[in-house]
Amino acid sequence: MQVALVGIGKIAVDQHVPAINASADWELAATVSRHGSVEGVPAYDDFDAMLAERTDIRVVSLCLPPVPRFDYAARAIAAGRHVMLEKPPGATLSECHTLADMARDAGVALYATWHSRQADKVPAAKAWLQDKRLISLTITWRENVRQWHPGQDWVFEAGGLGVFDPGINALSILTEILPDPVHLTAAELQFPENRDTPIAARCRFHHPHGADVSMDLDWLEPGDPTWSIEAVTDQGRMRMENGGGHLIIDDMPDDSLPGLTGEYPRLYAQMAKLVETGAVDMDLAPMRHVADAFTLGRRVSVAPFEW
Ligand code: NAP
Repeated sequence: MQVALVGIGKIAVDQHVPAINASADWELAATVSRHGSVEGVPAYDDFDAMLAERTDIRVVSLCLPPVPRFDYAARAIAAGRHVMLEKPPGATLSECHTLADMARDAGVALYATWHSRQADKVPAAKAWLQDKRLISLTITWRENVRQWHPGQDWVFEAGGLGVFDPGINALSILTEILPDPVHLTAAELQFPENRDTPIAARCRFHHPHGADVSMDLDWLEPGDPTWSIEAVTDQGRMRMENGGGHLIIDDMPDDSLPGLTGEYPRLYAQMAKLVETGAVDMDLAPMRHVADAFTLGRRVSVAPFEW
C-alpha cells in the first residue's frame, strides 16, 4: 500500500521511514514537508498539490506537531484519504471528535496512534494486572527535554502539551493496562515563567477501589531518562521500565519475546488492517487525562526555560 508521509521531522525520520521501509505491506510513495525530504522519494512542499496529483496514494500519515495537524487531517479526509495521526491525535478533544465524525461520514480509516501502547511488554502487564487488586500505581516519567526535543519550540507553545507530550505516552499505557478506569483528582503544573506549557507536573487519580494512583513528570532530568510504571497489588508487584519495553514481576524479568517487534512496525500493521475496513480507531482516554490536568491543575510559575 502506498503512503504519503507528512512533516518530515524527528519522528518521521527516526521511526516512520524505517518502519515503512521494513514492512512488506507499505511503500513510501511521497513526502510532504516545507524543509524535509527522504532520499529517492518524490517530495512535495504543498499538501494540496500532492493530494491533487497523487490520487494513487490512498493513505496519509501525519507526523506534524498537534496544533497544525487538524487542518492537514481534515483536508486529507475531505480528499477521500485514509489518515494516520501521530500522538496526541490533536490539540483539543473537540477537533479529534470532529475528525472521527468526518472519517466515518467519508468512509475512510482514521487511526489515532499511541506508539507507547505498542511497546513490547504492554500486553503482558495488562494480562498480569487483570485478576489482581491494585493497591498503588506510580508513574515516573523523567527525561531531559534538551536531549529528546532539541530546539523544538512548539512543545512550549500553547497546544504543544509541554511535559505532557511524553507524559501522554505513560497515560496511553496506563489506560491500556488498568482493568478499571481512573480519573484525575488533582494536579500541580510547573510552568516556566517565559513559556506557555508546563515543564513538570504531579498528578493524582481516583481509582474505583481506592488504589493510590499518581504520576510524576519532569523534563529537567539531568541524567538517564526514567520511563517507569510501578504497580503494587494484593498478589505481588510489577515494574515496567523503559517506556513499556521491560517488565519485572516480583523482581523477575519477563523475558517472553513478542512476535512483530517495534512500536512503529506494529502501528503500521494495525493501520493496514484499519484501511481494509475503513474503520476509525480514536481512543481519546490518554488525552482526556491531560485535558483534565490542564482544567483542574494548579499552576505554579518556575524559572524561565531556555534551550
Ligand atoms: P518536529 O520534528 O519538530 O516536527 C515535525 C515536522 O512537522 C517538522 O519537520 C515540520 O516540517 C513540520 N511542522 C512543524 N510545524 C509545522 C507547522 N506549523 N505547519 C506545518 N508543518 C509543521 O516534531 P517531531 O518530534 O517529529 O514530533 C511530531 C509529532 O510526533 C508530535 O506530535 C510528537 O508528539 C510525536 N512524537 C515525537 C517523538 C519524538 O521523539 N520527537 C516520538 C513519538 C511521537 P517542515 O517544516 O519541513 O514542514
